Amino acid sequence: MGTLFTKAGKRLKAAAKHLDIHPDTLAKLKYPKETLAASIPVRMDDGSLKTFKAWRCRYDDTRGPTKGGIRYHPAVNMDEVMTLAFWMTFKCAVANLPYGGGKGGVAVDASKLSKAELERLSRAYIQAFAFFIGPDRDIPAPDMYTNGIVMAWMADEYSRISGHPNPAVITGKPVELGGSVGRDDATGRGGYLVLRHLEKDLGVAPSKSRIAVQGFGNAASHVARLLHADGYKIIGLSDSRSAIYDPDGMDPIAVMEHKRRTGKVAGAPTNGKRRDISNNDLLTSECDILIPAAMESQIVEENAGQVKAPIILELANGPITPAADAILNKNGITVIPDILANAGGVTVSYFEWVQNKAGYYWHLPEVQQKLRAIMEPEARAIWDLKMKKGIDMRTAAYVHALSRIARAIEAHGTKAYFNS
Ligand code: NAD
Repeated sequence: MGTLFTKAGKRLKAAAKHLDIHPDTLAKLKYPKETLAASIPVRMDDGSLKTFKAWRCRYDDTRGPTKGGIRYHPAVNMDEVMTLAFWMTFKCAVANLPYGGGKGGVAVDASKLSKAELERLSRAYIQAFAFFIGPDRDIPAPDMYTNGIVMAWMADEYSRISGHPNPAVITGKPVELGGSVGRDDATGRGGYLVLRHLEKDLGVAPSKSRIAVQGFGNAASHVARLLHADGYKIIGLSDSRSAIYDPDGMDPIAVMEHKRRTGKVAGAPTNGKRRDISNNDLLTSECDILIPAAMESQIVEENAGQVKAPIILELANGPITPAADAILNKNGITVIPDILANAGGVTVSYFEWVQNKAGYYWHLPEVQQKLRAIMEPEARAIWDLKMKKGIDMRTAAYVHALSRIARAIEAHGTKAYFNS
């Protein structure tokens, strides 16, 4: 029980048990530094005025400006935004980026808006939060149901307000507007690099391991494409409406093409006999690696005991609740946690920000090589910590991140320092 945010706090406490950190540090991390709630009026195409609830949270900025996406979803609320900002704080520390964590959201069903309404809403969000964000303060990015063009409108609006082009205020922009090459598939690629790097430790291999992926958006489609290209068999894929399953496998590119034409994965061509199944059936399907890549709280107390995959790569943020986590741990299932598995997205966002600030742009191989140079050593460090301390991988990732955050907070002095 408890809100998403109180559940996230439990992970902080679990990690703290394995570290000798000062209580002041934990107190500082218990609540966000600041959260702003706004209501955003937007003129609709029919002339009416609709007001949307919106938030932005800067959780902790000890290690640098806060960083995190903006989510458009009807169920977004302040608790969720704070939780996502908390996760971002730890994710940025996992990847050792010079950032704290932030997040934003608008309670809206973006699919019900016209393109012009979506642009007006995105610009209105920046008008409401312009003094809260900034290239050296808080740097948004895309998240669920926001994308490159939304970031382009937002960066443009911020530039108008600040009086000059300011591309470093936001990442995930189109390449033509200062986005980084390699940002589009960075989240999926990051998860792919982690999995491939830990293959021997996990006992998986392309030739023998079957993969089911929940979701078929940005994160999911790229990880499925990359793993399939290396020889992994993709046996399940899904979207918000349904899921498909075929023990003989499927080509994610063909499924992508089908989804582009029909708007859904149901009915997509596969290698053998396709079955259209439910999202829950996909999560509990017979496979070797399960990749939840849609949204939070998908593996919960009620279905965790039925999960058959021995390995879960968490590409979505928070797809497993703490109660489900305990069940998976008891059942010996290895979870590669979100704050490591999906850190590729924020890492290439960081590269984009660095390039914007420098005004000097890198080629794709350089971006991909730099991403690899971060993901592999961090995955290795977390795996080694897990083995050394005999803890699960999520706790190890939090311990790894918390030790970096704690060292930064404590570098300002602790009680012991001031009393000496
Ligand atoms: P997206 O909007 O591109 O895709 C979301 C996918 O989830 C879609 O395929 C949608 O059909 C599916 N979906 C939505 N509701 C669902 C439901 N109830 N059941 C099953 N599927 C459902 O989003 P994305 O950017 O790929 O993000 C997916 C997850 O990855 C989110 O948790 C996000 O926070 C996380 N993430 C994304 C990035 C990134 O760079 N895109 C980075 C880090 C983490």
